[in-house]
Amino acid sequence: MVVGANGIRPNLHQIQGIMKNEQMTKIKFATVWLAGCSGCHMSFLDMDEWLIELANYVDVVYSPVGCDLKEYPEDVDVCLVEGGVANQDNLELIHEVRAKTKTLISFGDCAVTANVPGMRNMLGGSEPVLKRGYLELADDTRQLPHEPGIVPELLDQVLPVHEIVPVDIFMPGCPPSADRIKATIEPLLKGEKPKMEGRDMIKFG
Ligand code: SF4
Repeated sequence: MVVGANGIRPNLHQIQGIMKNEQMTKIKFATVWLAGCSGCHMSFLDMDEWLIELANYVDVVYSPVGCDLKEYPEDVDVCLVEGGVANQDNLELIHEVRAKTKTLISFGDCAVTANVPGMRNMLGGSEPVLKRGYLELADDTRQLPHEPGIVPELLDQVLPVHEIVPVDIFMPGCPPSADRIKATIEPLLKGEKPKMEGRDMIKFG
């Protein structure tokens, strides 16, 4: 039962006001998966029971592991971005995420440095990567993928997120541990900036 500060049970209108206030205080939270292996998102899920507490403070408005919405919404407060920027879809999405997000967090080594997906950069462009993967190493039906509008075009280089758009917080790790993710998010819920320093918070790998 909802009871007001004076101990008197509020009427329906007041309850609606309380519920509205509660909704208004929740922050709009998103996670995005670009060119990564999803390991950073798996580590996010490793926060286990703290996710239930987190749900008291956030509305998950976009996430491959927490929400089924396909369009990135307006006015997102905090977004974790996993992965490097490797193809045209990644490129369009990260620009949209930046334009609609207050605090953008580069989430994991692939977002921070390009890391594993960036290893293809040493081949010198998208053409040799596609030829190696789809022609030279194919057992049969050798052909280059080319379906404009369906298969996103590869960029010549995989880039870390901050080389495309400004990033507010860098959270390295491959993946970042659940403890590090929690320690990064928790201050943001109170309107504070996390201290990204020391081995526990910024060690790569
Ligand atoms: Fe996977 Fe590591 Fe990249 Fe995260 S940083 S997406 S765990 S390879």
